[in-house]
Amino acid sequence: MGVLVRSAARQLCYAARAVIPCTWRGKYFSSGSDEPAANNRVTPMLRHLMYKIKSTGPITVAEYMKEVLTNPAKGKAEAVSDVMIKSLQVLDTEWQSTALGLAKRRGRHLSFASQREYTWDLGAGGSQGYYMHRDMLGEKGDFITSPEISQIFGELLGIWFISEWMATGKNVAFQLVELGPGRGTLMGDILRVFSQLGSVLKNCDISIHLVEVSQNLSELQALTLTEAKIPLEQNPESLVYMKGVTKSGLPISWYRDLQDVPKGYSFFLAHEFFDVLPVHKFQKTPQGWREVLIDIDPQVSGKLRFVLAPCVTPAQAFLQHDEIRDHVEVCPDAGVIIQELSERIALTGGAALIADYGHDGTKTDTFRGFCGHELHDVLIAPGTADLTADVDFSYLRRMAQGKVASLGPTEQQTFLKNMGIDVRLKVLFNKSDEPSVRQQLLQGYDMLMNPQKMGERFNFFALLPHERLHGRSHHINACQSRPSASPVAGFGELAWQ
Ligand code: SAH
Repeated sequence: MGVLVRSAARQLCYAARAVIPCTWRGKYFSSGSDEPAANNRVTPMLRHLMYKIKSTGPITVAEYMKEVLTNPAKGKAEAVSDVMIKSLQVLDTEWQSTALGLAKRRGRHLSFASQREYTWDLGAGGSQGYYMHRDMLGEKGDFITSPEISQIFGELLGIWFISEWMATGKNVAFQLVELGPGRGTLMGDILRVFSQLGSVLKNCDISIHLVEVSQNLSELQALTLTEAKIPLEQNPESLVYMKGVTKSGLPISWYRDLQDVPKGYSFFLAHEFFDVLPVHKFQKTPQGWREVLIDIDPQVSGKLRFVLAPCVTPAQAFLQHDEIRDHVEVCPDAGVIIQELSERIALTGGAALIADYGHDGTKTDTFRGFCGHELHDVLIAPGTADLTADVDFSYLRRMAQGKVASLGPTEQQTFLKNMGIDVRLKVLFNKSDEPSVRQQLLQGYDMLMNPQKMGERFNFFALLPHERLHGRSHHINACQSRPSASPVAGFGELAWQ
């Protein structure tokens, strides 16, 4: 395999969204209050959220993240609930006059019903979520990820999947499923390894399945992986919204939800996916746990602020009874996905590899925003910046318990070292005489491995069938060889059988 030049690697020092100053914490939780009013740009998303809060009251941080990151609205009028109809009567006059102006320009008589519709239209118009309409990755975007930094990252992950496939009996057919594939770079690097190791995988029936909410990013993924523009599936009943064939001839399909991916022997990959899932935030008070909510700031026009819920909220059920921290973030969506992955793996075999920045149940306030490779106040100009929270691996482990075995979290520097990053770097380095390519390889290595950069902040976590760790296979058939209880690559040193 040759050396690929990643243009983004030039800006490595500024590019990692995981490299954050340690002063972020206090500053970002008391978000907004010390920002000058001039910074409070009223984005369509902010308008939409203010409208929503006026209608329903303060919203949870999870609801806020969901809206800001993945709201699919493109500006179409949407159904208006009774609560919203009532709340329209208390909307400020400036808002109503804008709606009236728009209605008049469209030459319509403005009944109360159409006034409602136009107001909602304006509220949702252009308020598409951050992930839905842009390419946020790389030098020109808001953050950069490991696969965008170095080809070696994806290559080693490709080897991990082959190693697990071999250790679990070399099933003749398997699905490779990626959650949140970004630009498709990581999958591209993995598939290149699969092609190079064609002799190992020959006669294997492999299919690729991508779970992606953003149509814009799925188009980029299609270009990267199939070199074609794939039309959207026309049948509204279809769970697959795009399908094609990869450059190496494998069938590839796109889904909006993991539940839609066909059940079957699968290997799952989620890199920097769990950190964008919505979190609920809680704070310990003298009255007990209270959820942190987002409300409109009554003091400053066009500004949001954090408030505490006056009483117990439903998401409190996700807190541990013996919780000792005084501030906690919980991510029920992550729990649902881990349970789905665990059930599938327990039923049909395979494995899941999850890589993200996070902690093992120790951190408190990690909710933050990124824009143009800089930290960004989460409540300012929503929709223009990435929102993220560290993954709590202890929660993921609890959600998998009883169904599958879990390994990790293991620091990225340890995982990649165990996978043979030093050997791979040496091979690529010696292959190229070009000084700029060599420098880029070294810079990429440093970014991935340096404990001050991504080496310690990022962690690897795996879900495996219990049988995998005890040397028994799910379904041994004539075409499979008996698996061994070899160490799991990355979590121990790599040993080829
Ligand atoms: N894995 C890639 C991209 C990480 S960014 C990389 O490491 O480079 C997060 C990705 O998850 C994006 O592709 C985003 O569109 C997708 N995403 C965010 N929320 C999602 C959800 N709820 N379901 C599926 N995909 C989602």
